[in-house]
Amino acid sequence: MCGVFGIYGHEEAANLAYLGLHALQHRGQESAGIVTSDGQALRSFRGMGLVADTFTQPVLEQLPGSMAIGHVRYSTAGSTHLKNAQPLQVSFGGGQLAVAHNGNFVDAFATRRELEADGAIFQSDSDTENIIHHIARSKAPTLEARIVEGLRRTVGAFSLLFLSDRQLIGVRDAIGFRPLVLGRLKEAYVLASETTALDLIEAEYIREIEPGEMVVIDANGLRSSFPFQKQPPGRCVFELVYFARPDSQVFGESVFQVRKKLGVQLAREQPVEADVVIAVPDSGVAAAIGYAEQAKLPYDVGLIRSHYVGRTFIEPQQSIRHFGVKLKLAPVRSTLEGKRVVAVDDSIVRGTTSRKIVKMLKDAGAREVHLRISSPPTTWPCYYGIDTPSRQELIAASHTVDEIARYVTADSLAYLSEKGLVTAAGDAGRGSFCTACFSGKYQTPLTETSSR
Ligand code: AMP
Repeated sequence: MCGVFGIYGHEEAANLAYLGLHALQHRGQESAGIVTSDGQALRSFRGMGLVADTFTQPVLEQLPGSMAIGHVRYSTAGSTHLKNAQPLQVSFGGGQLAVAHNGNFVDAFATRRELEADGAIFQSDSDTENIIHHIARSKAPTLEARIVEGLRRTVGAFSLLFLSDRQLIGVRDAIGFRPLVLGRLKEAYVLASETTALDLIEAEYIREIEPGEMVVIDANGLRSSFPFQKQPPGRCVFELVYFARPDSQVFGESVFQVRKKLGVQLAREQPVEADVVIAVPDSGVAAAIGYAEQAKLPYDVGLIRSHYVGRTFIEPQQSIRHFGVKLKLAPVRSTLEGKRVVAVDDSIVRGTTSRKIVKMLKDAGAREVHLRISSPPTTWPCYYGIDTPSRQELIAASHTVDEIARYVTADSLAYLSEKGLVTAAGDAGRGSFCTACFSGKYQTPLTETSSR
């Protein structure tokens, strides 16, 4: 799970990349980096932590040029360490190159072992480095052709940005797991994970980069090609459920509107007698509004979220995560006291958050707590770029809904159906989403990488 941003043809490339990454901060808070090109040399800065903490004005001033790519990272492969921060930057026979990756190569372990056996030396333990080795070894005549050749040898999810001294290249895998959009800011081209990054810098949204599409942007303008074999589509439905920012358009849909529809559908499928609907902020807000609208119940604020802590899940240790829920959320007693409360959240992963929240709501006076989840039970890990724990840690992989309800001490618990989810998300029976985390139906063959 990461965010990528690229810009070509603007004298303030580094500053705009900084702003773009800021808008994509929700996609990864572990590290941030920017690489720029002034047409001759690449320069980079990467650091651990948030965009605003990593980049200062003096640092941005060290990044001259009218082309830039940037990255915010939350690790799905490789450890939490500066060496894994992106964009990765290398010099090789074909010149200088930087790469920023959102996604996950599922064949990374095996490929790395093969490359190492063949003498390759790795600087990071990120799966993204494999692609650089493939590109460096390719005998193809152009950078573009080398990238295509390298990517044809991999399996997995990628929305990738490459920056050379003269070119910005964006590529999206043929299944289309992760989003990538194209925008324009006057003469400049912009590529970003989500439209919210375009909005912040006042760039115009042009379109999505299509699954399997490669765009090469250089002094000749923008060229598009489709160099990969066509695949059945598999856009990540969890982007719409949880990951993307609600003000973004992802896969051509307004994320907020989709989430609201998930709430409407959830109320149709899983009604309950209650006095008030509240959201688990921020991720449950849109679905809770939809639920309340459909159920004809008042929507109110029952939990306040501190703006000064990151997403709970981001904390890598169980001990911190337990504490984190309290740091992050506080109950509003006046909304809850004596009420039968419907609390809407987007997903249950390990179940620890929900358990804390139900207890918090009851301690604050709620008479009944009915938990409603705007996606189906998460039963399988994601190997395509969303950080989910192993199957053993996913509570719904080994417990029934009733058992989970008892564990989280809710008076009732219900999830949205898979059909309800994909229909509300705009699928209309086309089977265009990847729902592997709910169904176990993976879109690619899995290798040993997958069982990290
Ligand atoms: P848990 O305590 O493990 O059940 O966490 C559930 C909470 O984590 C929900 O409120 C979700 O909004 C959030 N969540 C779900 N999936 C992820 C993810 N991959 N990364 C970060 N947070 C997540």
